[in-house]
Amino acid sequence: MKPEQIWQAALGELQIQLTKATYDTWLRDTRYVAFEDNVFFIGTPTGYAKDWLENRLYGTIRRTLQGISRKTVDVKFSVWANAVEGVKVVQNLHGDPTPKAHAKSATVAAPSHFTSDGRILNSKYRFENYIVGKSNRLAHAACIATAENPATAYNPLFLHGGVGLGKTHLLQAIGNYCAAQGMTVLYVSAEDFANELISSIRSHSTENFREKYRKIDVLLMDDVQFIAGKDATQEEFFHTFNALHQNNKQLVLSSDRHPKSFNTLEERLRSRFEWGLTVDIQPPDLETRIAILQSKAEERGREVPADVLDLLARRVQSNIRELEGALNRLLANADLLKMPMNAQLVDHTITEWIPSHQTPTPDAVLKAVAETAQVSLDELKGPSRKKEIAQYRQMAMFLLREEAEQSLPEIGNLLGGRDHTTIKYGHEKIKDEVECNSEVRRMVSQMKERIYNRR
Ligand code: ADP
Ligand code: MG
Repeated sequence: MKPEQIWQAALGELQIQLTKATYDTWLRDTRYVAFEDNVFFIGTPTGYAKDWLENRLYGTIRRTLQGISRKTVDVKFSVWANAVEGVKVVQNLHGDPTPKAHAKSATVAAPSHFTSDGRILNSKYRFENYIVGKSNRLAHAACIATAENPATAYNPLFLHGGVGLGKTHLLQAIGNYCAAQGMTVLYVSAEDFANELISSIRSHSTENFREKYRKIDVLLMDDVQFIAGKDATQEEFFHTFNALHQNNKQLVLSSDRHPKSFNTLEERLRSRFEWGLTVDIQPPDLETRIAILQSKAEERGREVPADVLDLLARRVQSNIRELEGALNRLLANADLLKMPMNAQLVDHTITEWIPSHQTPTPDAVLKAVAETAQVSLDELKGPSRKKEIAQYRQMAMFLLREEAEQSLPEIGNLLGGRDHTTIKYGHEKIKDEVECNSEVRRMVSQMKERIYNRR
């Protein structure tokens, strides 16, 4: 295996070993730079990420690399820039990166864009490599329209959808597009916005903070659900929003839910979020999942037989991040175990993966269903024949069987003493609908996310 493949395989492993937040924050945007004298040189987007990886994750990453390459290797991190003109900026910003590393990466990668505070927009998130299907067509079209005509088409543009469905990808694609036209872009997660605000208050520099957020052309704020319930942050964002909107600047926001389903969002912010266009992204259907896998395999320069991609897409339904993770693992397994790319390899990849999701308890499943559906446990278990409740109950049957591995009679007991034939029918019904009804698919994925504590 080539060193770069080993690094990709290690990322696949780490994605499973670490929490999603840790992986996404520190590893997702790293890149392989070089391998020399048994040392992996890995690029990080910021000096901060470099420090963090060195101090907290070094051991884990090194062990993972050794496990895969089956020899003693070391790993070194440095701040990368993926364009020649970027190198200087990054050096100025973050000190002294490994020059050798840059010489190599500079020649291969696409130009990257810097946001107004020197953060790098990730150039891997572009419109060109975003696969469009029924589940995200509208969101994609709205993002293109916004990127082409900022502050005229839809303002704000509000994207919502479950985890791993491509919100960040689209936000960054708008950013890359607008930055290439020379606009001042700022991409920030709502969490970073909140943290920056707090530290500016602490250091008495709120004026600078405001100044920074008010002089940009395009503000991309990711995961705005984070500011709900945080009064000071909401207040500040309210003013930022108004200042930008009044000056005809574009705002693009993303969230895991529709503005209407925020319980603790101030009314005046909620109504502003709905001023422009609100579009959702649904979990992808089978065809889109296959197309995504094809494109990701191509990006990697790998050939995977169509029937293998098809099988993999059928097995991983939840979200695109997991789909990518499964493909990474499949490729790593093919290389490491020298297995041919066939159904058996898919099986191996999926079963190996499952132990990392511990089997949840039936109670955890019922709780997650009730919370997602916003009904009480009593309603779920009770006799109500109301259409929605009956459907949520069937989703519970499905998840108790698929995720908690309960038998039909056990599920009958858990759900207030129902007959096992009722359970069987409910399970099968949802199993079909997950494939053909996007509302059901979306609801069931949200329930799974909650079961596995991913939100
Ligand atoms: P979110 O922000 O909604 O949690 P991300 O934008 O981080 O999701 O997407 C997760 C991963 O899936 C990313 O690597 C992204 O590039 C990829 N992805 C998501 N949607 C698509 C798509 N339609 N086409 C190609 N890749 C996608
Ligand atoms: Mg995201």
